[in-house]
Amino acid sequence: MQQDASAASEQVRRALEEICGNLAFTWQPDARELLERVDPRAWDRAGGSPGAFLGEVAPEELDRAAADDATREGVLRLRDRLARELTGPTWWQAAHGGEDVLVAYFSSEFGVDESLPIYAGGLGVLAGDHLKSASQLGLPLVGVGLLYRQGYFRQGLDEDGWQQERYPENDPDRLPVILERRDDGAPVRVAVELAGEQVGAHVWRADVGRVRLYLLDCALEENSDAGRAVTATLYGGDREQRIRQEVVLGVGGTRALHALGLAPTVFHMNEGHAALLTLERIRVLVRAGLRFDEALRRVRASTAFTTHTPVPAGHDIFDPDLAHRYLAPLVAEAGVSWGELAALARSYDDDPLFGMTPLALRTSGFANGVSELHGDVSRKMWRGLWPDLGEAEAPIGHVTNGVHAPSWVSAPIAALLDAHGVAPAAAPAAQRWERAHSLDPGALWAAHADSKRALLAAAERRGAVLDAEALTIGFARRFATYKRAGLLFSSPERLARLLFDPHRPVQILLAGKAHPADDAGKRLIQQVVRFARSAEAGGRVVFLEDYDLALARALVQGCDVWLNTPHRPLEASGTSGMKAGMNGVLNLSVLDGWWYEGYEPALGWAIGDGDPSNDADADRCDGESLFGLLEQRVVPLFYEDRPRWIEMMRASIASVGAAFNTHRMVCQYAEGLYLPAHRALAELESLAA
Ligand SMILES: *Cc1c(COP(=O)(O)O)cnc(C)c1O
Repeated sequence: MQQDASAASEQVRRALEEICGNLAFTWQPDARELLERVDPRAWDRAGGSPGAFLGEVAPEELDRAAADDATREGVLRLRDRLARELTGPTWWQAAHGGEDVLVAYFSSEFGVDESLPIYAGGLGVLAGDHLKSASQLGLPLVGVGLLYRQGYFRQGLDEDGWQQERYPENDPDRLPVILERRDDGAPVRVAVELAGEQVGAHVWRADVGRVRLYLLDCALEENSDAGRAVTATLYGGDREQRIRQEVVLGVGGTRALHALGLAPTVFHMNEGHAALLTLERIRVLVRAGLRFDEALRRVRASTAFTTHTPVPAGHDIFDPDLAHRYLAPLVAEAGVSWGELAALARSYDDDPLFGMTPLALRTSGFANGVSELHGDVSRKMWRGLWPDLGEAEAPIGHVTNGVHAPSWVSAPIAALLDAHGVAPAAAPAAQRWERAHSLDPGALWAAHADSKRALLAAAERRGAVLDAEALTIGFARRFATYKRAGLLFSSPERLARLLFDPHRPVQILLAGKAHPADDAGKRLIQQVVRFARSAEAGGRVVFLEDYDLALARALVQGCDVWLNTPHRPLEASGTSGMKAGMNGVLNLSVLDGWWYEGYEPALGWAIGDGDPSNDADADRCDGESLFGLLEQRVVPLFYEDRPRWIEMMRASIASVGAAFNTHRMVCQYAEGLYLPAHRALAELESLAA
């Protein structure tokens, strides 16, 4: 008996090791709950990090968990499910298995799990979801990024509602990453030159299902203080710090792949931060004997670039002297003069600045925006790069973003969908989402109510007391001014009438961080927080601190309505509304970004008049429209026609699930960009051979 018990403990221990060793657990709806059940205090001490959890589990808790049939069997079942994630047949094998493709996907941030805090917002979450779908689809892809020792900041608020930033140190021993080592046991190491100084980097690996994510880390003993600081924080520091990070990401990242023995055939730059990888690849080809123009042709053929925002601050530009100081040594080996190379990074003739977006666009054979509307906006924005082409001909297409459904759909809704044959985890299978139209209304409402209770419980743990019956509106995103969080507060009397209607009350949950250097964004948070804390708000408006992936999940799963009020056309895509929509949380949003494509009256509401050219007076018009919709449509429907509301939930799940998931998106990248790029490179190489 004694022996059986210790054998069971050992079995559970080994299963937990497998589960915690791969971030595929993040898209198993019951995984976090199960790990927490094994040892709640250890899960808490580990801060929800699988990397730290096992080291924290107390032996007697492990014995207890192993002796409990439900927990033990749950853990073993989860382990088996994860093993199938890594070995089962895939879409890629069936459709394109014969192609010897390897995609290297570069991004300055990755939002895979809250326990790996190397993301700031939508760009990183998209990158994380891209990896997750690539894994499930079987696409041969590796991620490349930076391991920030302090990540992005954690948000607090002072008594006056002013954002406080904390930068807790990420200890790699407690992160879900392992250090890449050579056969002789020494860490894999790459070096880059930063303004005359050699700076070394180690390479950590996070396993995301079948996909490997490589993260460069400059915090080495041997580096100078300045060298170690390069990968300290995400989006912190000045322009010089930024270009130093971009050299490490683009140049160091390319060298790291080589050091790991990988030879990608396609490079994908998620935003311009990684654009220097093209320069490094050209340099290597020139050193191998090609002329600059031949090298550029090969690099272009095999590079894809995705631009993510029309907001100017989202496009890195560098002072020419700064760029020269960091890039001249690379350019000297690339068979090209500094002047010619710098010309590739100009936005217009005589532009003195060195722009990463123009450089990326001129060195990529494939470029795209992240929604249909954003494709248009990007062609207009960058048409100057191709003076000989008409506006519509600028070579920028679009691949509309998506979200990774298994990561974002709540456990209760996922169980319902599974039982109904929707199976969001399976290959693209858009048509399966159609089945959501026939979900049982009572069961759907009950599943939604479960998710809502979980959200309200999470809010309660943070001190907010909310009403489980009240119509609950969510608004969570970066507090960039163009997102216009203030629109909701632009008519205080009308807002008060909505909040305090005794028969049809409304409550509003908000969350989001402002960039540390963005005082306007912080003032907006302060206004919202001051209001939320005032008697006027009566506890019906709540600001939840420290927006991250975990809080995002709770919000997009548990609200009734998801609000988005960007200033058109500045929301290139937006993805939180997609997460909400596939949970049956109805979108109420300006017709910008993805909603311009996704909106139908059967599944949500459109703020504004839908005319993308009507920009004048936008705040007043959109504010008027927002309150009109809430008063006349949203609130009455929620309280007076629940069957119709649930029908909209079903339509939202079916339509948003089918069109706005990353399985669809990654298939589009694979077939529309990666495969053509792979083949174009192979052709150029065979011509030269
Ligand atoms: C999805 C997500 C975002 C992006 O949301 P938008 O709607 O695009 O603003 C930002 N932060 C977190 C934590 C997210 O989960």
